[in-house]
Amino acid sequence: MFSFNSIKAKFNTDRSSYEGLTEKEAKQRLEKYGFNTLKEKAKISKIKIIADQFKDILTIILLISTVISLIMGDTVEAITIIIIVFINATLGFIQEYRTEKSMEALKKLSAPHARVVRDGKITNIPASNIVPDDLIILEAGDKIPADGKVIEVASFYVDESLLTGESISVEKNISSCPNVYMGTIVMQGRAKVIVKSTGMNTEMGKIANMLQGITEEATPLQKRLEELGKFIAYLCLGICIFITLIGIIRGEPIFDMLLVGISLAVAAIPESLTATITICLALGVQRMLKRNALIRKLSAVETLGCSSVVCSDKTGTLTENKMTVTKMYTYNNLINVTGNGFNPSGKFLNNNIQINPLDIESIKLSLEISGVCNNSELSKKDISNIKKKGIASKIYNLPSISELWTIEGDPTEGALLVVAHKAGLNNNVLSKKYRRIDEIPFDSNRKCMSVICSDTKGSKLMFTKGAPDIVINKCTKMYTDRGIIELTSNIKRDIIKINENLASEALRVLCVAYKELSSSSSKEEDLVFVGLIGMIDPPRQEAFIAIKKCILAGIKPVMITGDHKITAIAIAKQLGIYKDGDKVLTGIELDKIDEKQLQKLVKDVSVYSRVSPRHKLMIIKAFKKNNHIVAMTGDGVNDAPAIKEADIGVAMGISGTDVTKEASSMILLDDNFATLIAAIEEGRIIYKNIRKFIRYLLSCNIGEVLTMFVGILLGMPLPLIPIQILSVNLLTDGLPAIALGIDPSIENEMKNKPRKSKEGIFSQGLLWLIVFRGIVIGFTTLLVFGSFLKATGNLDIARTGAYLTLVLTQLIHVFECKSEKLSLFQIPIFNNKPLILAVLCSLLVVISTIYIPFLQTIFKTAPLTINQVGIILLLSLATPIMSTIMRKS
Ligand code: ATP
Repeated sequence: MFSFNSIKAKFNTDRSSYEGLTEKEAKQRLEKYGFNTLKEKAKISKIKIIADQFKDILTIILLISTVISLIMGDTVEAITIIIIVFINATLGFIQEYRTEKSMEALKKLSAPHARVVRDGKITNIPASNIVPDDLIILEAGDKIPADGKVIEVASFYVDESLLTGESISVEKNISSCPNVYMGTIVMQGRAKVIVKSTGMNTEMGKIANMLQGITEEATPLQKRLEELGKFIAYLCLGICIFITLIGIIRGEPIFDMLLVGISLAVAAIPESLTATITICLALGVQRMLKRNALIRKLSAVETLGCSSVVCSDKTGTLTENKMTVTKMYTYNNLINVTGNGFNPSGKFLNNNIQINPLDIESIKLSLEISGVCNNSELSKKDISNIKKKGIASKIYNLPSISELWTIEGDPTEGALLVVAHKAGLNNNVLSKKYRRIDEIPFDSNRKCMSVICSDTKGSKLMFTKGAPDIVINKCTKMYTDRGIIELTSNIKRDIIKINENLASEALRVLCVAYKELSSSSSKEEDLVFVGLIGMIDPPRQEAFIAIKKCILAGIKPVMITGDHKITAIAIAKQLGIYKDGDKVLTGIELDKIDEKQLQKLVKDVSVYSRVSPRHKLMIIKAFKKNNHIVAMTGDGVNDAPAIKEADIGVAMGISGTDVTKEASSMILLDDNFATLIAAIEEGRIIYKNIRKFIRYLLSCNIGEVLTMFVGILLGMPLPLIPIQILSVNLLTDGLPAIALGIDPSIENEMKNKPRKSKEGIFSQGLLWLIVFRGIVIGFTTLLVFGSFLKATGNLDIARTGAYLTLVLTQLIHVFECKSEKLSLFQIPIFNNKPLILAVLCSLLVVISTIYIPFLQTIFKTAPLTINQVGIILLLSLATPIMSTIMRKS
């Protein structure tokens, strides 16, 4: 929380004395007016989820047939079938409910926040808690959280296209255009707004019903698999009808054959395919959240795994965004500044000798401009509570003094504020000397910012700061300690050289300038150059490893920055993004080439510097034309189009604006590049897991269908009865398949090249693997069934053998599915506890149904001898053993 008084100084609050509500008043209003939210579509209820489990026509037919068989007297079997169907439905319900809940929680996490003044302090609160009469502070990139009236503005432009359809931003002012509306977007400037209406009482509330139609779209993979599921369903249905008809023709009782057909259809049709994928994606999303990546669109999870280019901002994503001024240059002076982070204590050194910076006029003016042309706030964290407990700081792991100081606002400005504080020029001192009248806000296109203020003598001054290459071209004179001189082209060249020297030390350099406004215009022109200020922003430690991983994974890392070319190269080189021989393009160079030329160049460029947001769009388009899948980060209001255009638009959680967050498919909660790479890794793992359980589910289903189909074709008695088919389905397709969906990765997924986005799910021979294994499972089961029947002449024993074989082959196969490269005996089997548990559970149930007499009567099983079990085990292991041998040879 930050003091409202200091913000009042920045806003020149003489014009408005309203200081917002107290927390108590806000609470009362919240009770009276309710939350500031639009009525949402009714959430999916538990009842609906339960009902959904039975909406499948086959399950309904199965239940009806079971009830008929109940009436006909086969009570125990009928009840057991009903129980199995219900267990299946319960499993489905639990999974779907968990998925719904976790998606809801994610939505809450990405809900917008707003800055309000409460009890005289600026606080960041959930936008839903805003009440009428709240005083809110708005800045470029904010989504306006409620309807209200501006009471103070600084070049305040709002995009109201959502309400009016008009794409040109509207300038708001106190007199003729003061109203702002919920959901519209601040494109430029800053304002203070008094909230007039909230929630459904806003203009947005009135049209809210029109917006309710927006639904969550299925991901491309979900859609493709839904199609596949349907195809398999029809195929299975055809086969089941065929089996039923053959059975009936052969003289089996009609009703029994119907039940066999329906049970087989229920077991074989992979109706859980899409549901399991949704669960797999949702659980993956949870894992990503633990790694600080908040997924906003489920489809991003799939796309992440294919990304072949990662375009990242520099400041804050690749660097720490903890800027500290280390160098100051003015005419004839080059001063070093010491200190750490945002802690406002440090020394000013001239040739290693400590000096008072206020003794040098030009340095003093540089520091004043730094402090006044600034909207950030410096504050110290309150650790009195920890101190009061009187326990040694070691135990509490107290933050160091430099970490106690934090900045609200732009860290570049924070660094400038801190250096002014180091010289004793704090807010109190500066606001006594200068009173702010107006502001031309910073904008990443203009790359500079100015304020107009009056000093104690009543003179009007413009203070400007910004990128040196931009600001210097607006200067015609130079401030020296002996007076103002003309800024000749020679001096200009020297300054540019000094700027480049500072930049090559990886410093971000800002130029400060000023002019008196009494005679000249209030445009940013004809300025007096005062000095250069260099600040360090160290690369993030995690970024070094992340970039290495990225390159190893065949992904091209690209730095896109608003900063100077030399600073950008210095940092990119340290991080390993830029290698000697790589190309660097600046915004100006980008403006000179067309799309086709850029398309040819992109593969060799690793750094783009001094770019504006519109250049980002050009770069993405060029990569996309070259068939790359691009992840692009962004934070500012103007980054939204690029974020939307990217295959994966990535917004910053801390420094990002509402607009970029809303346009993004993923938010980095810690603004960290390493998090993006972790999310890509997670995306690859999730895709692999989807392949794993599709492989498992389909090969098992093929095995089940083939057992019955070929058995009937060969004129054998039915290898399995309905209750056995259903229990095989429950024991193998249920928990083990889901556990496979959350399988930890055993291979380094970041060692491979990115997958092609058009690559089908069955690529790289997966389809054949599935069909082959399905045939093997069916063949092994029939082999056991036929041989046991021949050897014992007992149909129950033969069926029990087939039943156990079908379960065992599948429970062994589930472990094989953990890797497409390794054989069963190379795979770490015990690294997935839920899978081990699921398999043990299934084994326990299958053994119980074979050996517990009461269950034997229900499942029509007969106890098998040790030898018989041994044969089944050997046969079930035969294929994995053979494939291991084949792999070795
Ligand atoms: P990156 O794109 O790597 O994240 P950035 O977002 O900080 O960098 P911009 O914000 O576009 O890049 O800044 C571009 C340039 O504008 C900076 O190099 C700096 O010279 C100048 N600049 C940045 N912030 C301010 C500010 N608050 N006031 C004036 N000038 C600024």
